[in-house]
Amino acid sequence: MNLLSSGNRAALIQKSEQEPYDLLVIGGGITGAGIALDAATRGLRTVLLEKGDFASGTSSRSTKLVHGGLRYLKNFEFGLVREVGRERAVVHRLAPHLVINEKMILPLVRGGTYGRLMTSIGLKVYDLLAGVKRGDRRRMLDKRKTLELEPLIAADQLVGGGIYAEYRTDDARLTLEVIKTAQRESADVLNYARVEDFLMTDDQVGGAIWRDQLSGETHQVHARHVINAAGPWVDELRKADRSLKGKYLRPTKGVHIVVTRERFPIHHTLYFDIPDGRMIFAIPRDRAVYIGTTDTDYLGNLDEVRTELADASYLLDGVNHLFPAARLTLKDIESSWAGLRPLIAEEGKSPSEVSRKDEIFESPSGLLSIAGGKLTGYRKMAERIVDRVADRIRANEGRRPAPCQTHRTRLTGGAFENQAEVERYTEATARTLEELDPSLKARAGYLVHNYGQQTDAIVAGYSSQEGRPEQRLALSELDFTLSHEAVFTLLDFFERRTGRLYFDIHSIAGVRDAVTRRMQEQLNWSDEQTRAQVEQLDQAIHRASHFGEG
Ligand code: FAD
Repeated sequence: MNLLSSGNRAALIQKSEQEPYDLLVIGGGITGAGIALDAATRGLRTVLLEKGDFASGTSSRSTKLVHGGLRYLKNFEFGLVREVGRERAVVHRLAPHLVINEKMILPLVRGGTYGRLMTSIGLKVYDLLAGVKRGDRRRMLDKRKTLELEPLIAADQLVGGGIYAEYRTDDARLTLEVIKTAQRESADVLNYARVEDFLMTDDQVGGAIWRDQLSGETHQVHARHVINAAGPWVDELRKADRSLKGKYLRPTKGVHIVVTRERFPIHHTLYFDIPDGRMIFAIPRDRAVYIGTTDTDYLGNLDEVRTELADASYLLDGVNHLFPAARLTLKDIESSWAGLRPLIAEEGKSPSEVSRKDEIFESPSGLLSIAGGKLTGYRKMAERIVDRVADRIRANEGRRPAPCQTHRTRLTGGAFENQAEVERYTEATARTLEELDPSLKARAGYLVHNYGQQTDAIVAGYSSQEGRPEQRLALSELDFTLSHEAVFTLLDFFERRTGRLYFDIHSIAGVRDAVTRRMQEQLNWSDEQTRAQVEQLDQAIHRASHFGEG
């Protein structure tokens, strides 16, 4: 029985109440997902509880790069750059369809952050620290070559460029595949399970009381060890554990906006200077280009972070400065998202200067909390904290958990030898889709990047669906996510499983009725529940494409 099938939730909850676990992980973002996978592959009985959908926090709102963080060289954080730089290739190997090697361009402009010499040295150090292979290392470009590659850049500002290797991903899909791999390795994972309190024995934490956000019922899980991986919400749980002392979180907000590629026709990911001295990204993805990010202190409600007019205007101004011919306006923005970086406060530093390094806090109750860090470093973060749990188990329980295994644990759908094999698989998928209907051929790249080899199951399910080709494919995709990815709301599907809310927002209209009907049938929604779901989707579409003045 697949316990990640939406229909098997009751059985999973029942199992979780009976099982005495070695480890409870709170939070189903990339950090918690990585920890659950690491622990499960070492043989620890593991359960993960996530209050919303998997990846519904920061892990669906990042810049979606698996990158070494060139910027951190400026702060002399060599250790961090080395670790995350090397991790890129490891994570790429574990899921080559989802973590994609691509060339990025850093245009050099008059009066920019880095001069030609500094860029040349910086990118070289970056490649060396990250262990980039010879043929893939950075090249410096003159002005003519840079313009040849990206003709939209303002020629009067440009002096040259650097081209270097990075990796692009989809953060929510990466988190989901890590969750699914953890489940394959025998972890129990529940979304819509909000931890409300800890279970204590002799002042030591031994599990949690959680509320089912779908039914409203409360349940308990028992575990010898508990890790708080709640991202921006880490301090809320430290407060509930009465251990919020010393260091605390300083969340900063980051916004991205999405325009069509037709309106902003760039060919590579670009990392460029904007007039206030910061640097931002513009990243092409299928039919869209997304632009970000801002970095501002955030003191508001952690559950209601949104793009304000000022954020959108700031990013548009940044783009229009270096790409004046694009003349992007608010009307060009199709969608957007805003997220919070769970950073650890440091006196006297601006948001962009605060270190992205992760830290572990150990409380007198035994609760371990982890914060800071990056998407890219999730595997090493997980290894470090599970090592601590393994040490405790060795010292107190006389068992010897296995060492970390995740460097060789392929993610679900990711058993490709290399990127060339992914390309061959994509071409074969395109041919099959074309035979089903010529209009579907273009969906092959999207499906393979999202689902890897699991695409076969989606394509196989097409023939049994009804409707227009586009609807039939969406329904088959929905069926797959309902039976393998714990989908419970329209937004789970349109935002985090498929990314349509961000990258193809207008396409939702063509499939939403069919998707809603199928979900109502499969999840036994009442008419009232269905209306509430549709309203939630409408609100999300509105929020992504309209901006407040706050
Ligand atoms: P989250 O993803 O927020 O997960 C924590 C989870 O805990 C949430 O899903 C939440 O619902 C859950 N939770 C909270 N309270 C409870 C509770 N009581 N019970 C149960 N569950 C609970 N990193 C990169 O490597 N590359 C990038 O390009 C990049 N770009 C970024 C851009 C922006 C704008 C931002 C904000 C961050 C970026 N990062 C990037 C950093 C990266 O996204 C984060 O470090 C990472 O996603 C944090 O993951 P997390 O699991 O710790 O937090």
